[in-house]
Amino acid sequence: MSALSLSGRDLAAAVRTEAAARAAALTAAGTSPRLAVVIATADESSAWYVRSIAKAAATAGITCDLVELGPDAAADTIRATLARLSADDTVHGIILQTPLPAGAALEDLASAIAFEKDVDGANPLSLGRLASGLPAFAPATAEAVLAILDHHEVDLSGRLVAVVGRSTVVGKPAAHLLLNRDATVVVCHSRTADLAAVTSAADILVAAVGRPGLITAEHVGRGAVVVDVGTNPTEDGGLTGDVDAASVADRAGALTPVPGGVGPVTTALLLRHTVQAAGG
Ligand code: NAP
Repeated sequence: MSALSLSGRDLAAAVRTEAAARAAALTAAGTSPRLAVVIATADESSAWYVRSIAKAAATAGITCDLVELGPDAAADTIRATLARLSADDTVHGIILQTPLPAGAALEDLASAIAFEKDVDGANPLSLGRLASGLPAFAPATAEAVLAILDHHEVDLSGRLVAVVGRSTVVGKPAAHLLLNRDATVVVCHSRTADLAAVTSAADILVAAVGRPGLITAEHVGRGAVVVDVGTNPTEDGGLTGDVDAASVADRAGALTPVPGGVGPVTTALLLRHTVQAAGG
């Protein structure tokens, strides 16, 4: 039997519609929601992602400023730009796009994003608060993992979840969000001995690695729910996930597609966070 496809498209559309309604109400009340995306890279997949955010924001009535600093920007320039935007009352949300130039570290620079405008949860303060169970914007991709599972009514409480990947952008915050929902969480990474033995025991597998097709049938328990966060560019200009969908199809109970799974939900949640930061 083939795995059920857990699409993110309907959920993303609903979140975008709700964000647009809130943005319209805020604008009518005199506050026009505004998102600034700071870009210091010439990376093509990053440019594709930024275009999709800008397009979704425009459709939702949210102003989106693309602040292009160029791939050779110095860390001090990026930090000063984030500080300027943080102090600008007309800007409600700030995203620092990755990858960053050599010598610039996300964890270091993101501290310059005002906590209340940190709509992609990049400031270490946001991750610390999430880990403490305090209110904070979660990184949108990590939140999208839970949102898509909730949307498809996958129970989390007491279930064993294996998260593959421990980045501060996806793996770690996803693990904290899952723990906050009473899942039992195992976080795997490149030094995990016998990855398949660990992940195949899990009820839910979250792949956030950045290696196309790394997860195959041997990594997946029979009937498990698999969330594929990977967005790896293909030679023909498309996207492919971290999960070898053909290999796991007869083993997994359900699988999020790439594209059309976590990705559109991530973009929609960024819009939701921006209107929340603007007071909506
Ligand atoms: P990252 O910072 O490169 O982290 C990758 C993680 O995978 C690291 O923790 C690494 O372990 C682990 N890893 C690498 N090779 C492994 C292996 N063979 N076995 C087990 N673990 C391994 O990547 P990221 O930023 O978290 O992104 C992960 C993926 O999600 C990428 O495909 C990215 O494009 C995608 N993504 C998608 C969205 C979206 O909206 N859908 C948003 C953001 C990212 P170590 O820590 O030991 O190095």
